Amino acid sequence: MSVASTVPASIDLAALRERFPALRQQVHGRPLVYLDNAATTQRPDVVIRATVDFYEKDNANVHRGVHTLSQRATRDFEEARQTVRAFVDAAHDAEILFTKGCTEAINLVAATWGRTMLREGDEILLSTMEHHANIVPWQLVAEMTGATIRPIPIDDRGQIDLSAYGSMLTERVKLVGIVHVSNSIGTINPVAEITAMAHRVGARVMIDGAQALAHQKVSVRDLDVDFYAMSGHKVYGPTGIGALYGKRDLLEAMPPYQAGGDMIRTVTFEKTTFNDLPNRFEPGTPNIAGAIGWAAALNFVDRMGIDAIGRHEQTLTRYAQHRLSEIDGLRLVGTADDKAGIVAFSLEGIHPHDIGTVLDRNGVAIRAGHHCTMPLMQRFGLPATVRASFAMYTSEAEIDALVAAVQQAKEILG
Ligand code: PMP
Repeated sequence: MSVASTVPASIDLAALRERFPALRQQVHGRPLVYLDNAATTQRPDVVIRATVDFYEKDNANVHRGVHTLSQRATRDFEEARQTVRAFVDAAHDAEILFTKGCTEAINLVAATWGRTMLREGDEILLSTMEHHANIVPWQLVAEMTGATIRPIPIDDRGQIDLSAYGSMLTERVKLVGIVHVSNSIGTINPVAEITAMAHRVGARVMIDGAQALAHQKVSVRDLDVDFYAMSGHKVYGPTGIGALYGKRDLLEAMPPYQAGGDMIRTVTFEKTTFNDLPNRFEPGTPNIAGAIGWAAALNFVDRMGIDAIGRHEQTLTRYAQHRLSEIDGLRLVGTADDKAGIVAFSLEGIHPHDIGTVLDRNGVAIRAGHHCTMPLMQRFGLPATVRASFAMYTSEAEIDALVAAVQQAKEILG
């Protein structure tokens, strides 16, 4: 497969792809074309090595042991927290809580901040393009507290309607939940502006950052968001690890989420006192190897340069949209001005799952379905779409392979 001509000089794609062992394989006798990066990215060798190294050399539990292995494990785990903090430009390590992913990070906020701060009559505003992970936890809390959820509309290109949002913002609104980059259609939402508007009425802002970290620089301080949920496996790290960023004063005021060892200071049967941040929200043995592997992934992204990665993916996105739109009967879903490396489409009269099957026979891995965004699918009047999602290692030749396979699917199934 030839190296894409549009790739900026700063990314040596052929050398980069060598770093990802899973990319070096054939599927159904064809070179793997992995375009399901919004579901999960592949891991570079350094992430795999960091994880194996931990188990081979330093494996011990953190925070409790006085022995050498435990001290090494604790040091590396806490260094991983510092790496995540620096990556998203948070002010304090204590503002980074490790979770098992983005889903758990949002659930943590809903179950603690939500349950204590929301009352009957309060409103939660969520965009129409939210992933179910930033809808359902709020529905559970709304049921418990009597708060109501109101969807923020989007336009036909998949962009938040900022004037409608502005008119929905009243003193009743206590929380605004927004996905930074849509996993279904790739829209990059104007988070700083949305946050500033919410703060003017005293509302807090929960950003679902699952898809953002791999594609663009994120500074939680510049964005001024209150909570930011992250996922390791969407940014070349292991599964089962993620984090919640929360402003320190908010986290300090929140009751514990789950309870057990490590999150306490003293326990008697009469009364328990809780530990400081971040341990207060991290009971039990954490995913130590996951955190260490994730830090290796973030360092890898840093060395590649997030701006160069973002430019590369945006070039591929424009190219893919252009090539796909030439196919008769193909409808692009989500054509926002500001988009990360995600392209979604439907083909007239053909079910997305059938397209997915033909593509797989050609070695092309994409995702077909509702992408955990059913309200968004309803907005576009579709049960499902085909989604191709790109990463730092995606080449223009892979887009060509996608287009050729879609054309073949159309001939076979149309
Ligand atoms: N939000 C978005 C936008 C996502 O794309 C995903 C993963 N599909 C999630 C939340 C859930 O993330 P995790 O797998 O880390 O729980």
